[in-house]
Amino acid sequence: MSHNLLKLIMIVMVVFIVSACGKNAEPEISHGQHSTKNGDLQETTAAPDKLPSFLNKYPETTKIVYQLAAQNKDLMKWIPCYCGCGEEAGHQSNLNCFIKVTKSDGTTTWDDHGTRCATCMDIAIKVAQMNKDGRSANEIRSAIDGAYSKGFASPTQTPFPQ
Ligand SMILES: [Zn+2]
Ligand SMILES: [Zn+2]
Repeated sequence: MSHNLLKLIMIVMVVFIVSACGKNAEPEISHGQHSTKNGDLQETTAAPDKLPSFLNKYPETTKIVYQLAAQNKDLMKWIPCYCGCGEEAGHQSNLNCFIKVTKSDGTTTWDDHGTRCATCMDIAIKVAQMNKDGRSANEIRSAIDGAYSKGFASPTQTPFPQ
């Protein structure tokens, strides 16, 4: 993905996403999906490159951010989320805002929390951009911690890159 495209996504998101992490008022549940206690919807697909069907009703930019999360999943587990989802949803990293777990056979359980949360998407895009720029996991972790330490919720309890 080109830098220009990532920049475009950021601009689009700033314009269109103004809400903080909302809760699903009436989650639409269909086969293969279930709702967690806090209202977040989860759906399992066969592989990390098979996006969940709950994304169908969202704009292309949302799908791209989920794709970025899946492509960077081994990095994003070291990156905290600063939207408050650690306390509200029990997330352990920014990855959990998009993907709850990927099993060894590739089976991936997705979470729709990220569709409603500008902070989560913002962090995921920044991580993808820095990764593309060749920054190390430690550098990316420090940059995110530095950028979100003031004015955001307390971070998820996320281990440092190893
Ligand atoms: Zn969030
Ligand atoms: Zn989050």
